[in-house]
Amino acid sequence: MSEITELMNEQIRTLVPYLTVRDGYEGPLDILLDANESWLGGNDGVNRYPDPQCVELRKEIEKVIGLPWRMTAITNGSDEAIDLIIRIFCKPGRDSIIVSDPTFGEYGIFATLNDVRTIDVPQRADYMLDVDRMLAEIDENRPKLVFICSPNNPTGILYPEDDILRIAEHNKGITVIDEAYIDFTGTEGLWKRIMGNPRIVVFRTMSKAWALAGARVGIIVGCEEVIEAVMKAKAPYNVSRLSQDAAMEMLSRKDEVAALVREAVSERERMAAFLRTLPYVTEVFPSVTNFLLFRTPEAGKLYEHLLANRIIVRSYADDPVLGGCLRFSVSSVEENDKVMEALRGFQI
Ligand code: PMP
Repeated sequence: MSEITELMNEQIRTLVPYLTVRDGYEGPLDILLDANESWLGGNDGVNRYPDPQCVELRKEIEKVIGLPWRMTAITNGSDEAIDLIIRIFCKPGRDSIIVSDPTFGEYGIFATLNDVRTIDVPQRADYMLDVDRMLAEIDENRPKLVFICSPNNPTGILYPEDDILRIAEHNKGITVIDEAYIDFTGTEGLWKRIMGNPRIVVFRTMSKAWALAGARVGIIVGCEEVIEAVMKAKAPYNVSRLSQDAAMEMLSRKDEVAALVREAVSERERMAAFLRTLPYVTEVFPSVTNFLLFRTPEAGKLYEHLLANRIIVRSYADDPVLGGCLRFSVSSVEENDKVMEALRGFQI
């Protein structure tokens, strides 16, 4: 048994997955009567079940984004990916995961839902990973999964590759690197490292740079055993036909998407520079994403002021670490101008 398979829960290793009949057949077919569908809409409409393995979409992702299709699986957003990876590797009531707060809250929520313990190794005062402490906690607790969000939500900070790789090398469980915001960084992320270390799993999503949050299209990148396990553990038709089509359509508009990403980056910098001029802003985090996090002693009041201007942002006013911080997404030039106008009009 490979080291990856050995890490998996027994019931996943031995599971015989639900097989859709059309899956295994490649010859020509005219009349489709195997899945109790409606004929209304012919053979290519939403009356038919979607491709459970999203093969066409994965091949297109390989062409456009470069992730080899045999190393990917598509999920109903990365949220589903988090849940699946926990269910594949963690035994309820026994295993644990490591996270480094402040970070994306869903890792801990899905762990709790699966009766898996979350161990937090807080970031250092400069919001970088406390690598030495993480290594020590890994030795002590032998977690099945370590979640590293890079660039991190909500700080927007990209961790040095060496820090992440030191952890992934040391960790004998799986290291999940959530790269939801990697498209804004101009770097290719760490998926190629899976070739040398199959215990690395990378999460991508089409919800951010690819403008498809409503379609729910997440991408898991992993070694063969991980992808095979995900295919077994997921619901057979987890990504709808409409979502697969929407993803194909966005991939065909890659130049437009690249232009939008460039605009998001320049708008982020314009807004970060503006925030630094505001007398009530005490800290602007160095984000490499499509959002900005900043601190002000007036966070609660500012949040209300923005709401009164019909603008909603994310408040961390009462967060134990990020107290006094607000986070907002970078939007179109026009909307960003309105946000800046509202920020300018805030009276302490
Ligand atoms: N990971 C991170 C770091 C995120 O910020 C988000 C969304 N806010 C997700 C995953 C979930 O993304 P999706 O829409 O693909 O479920």
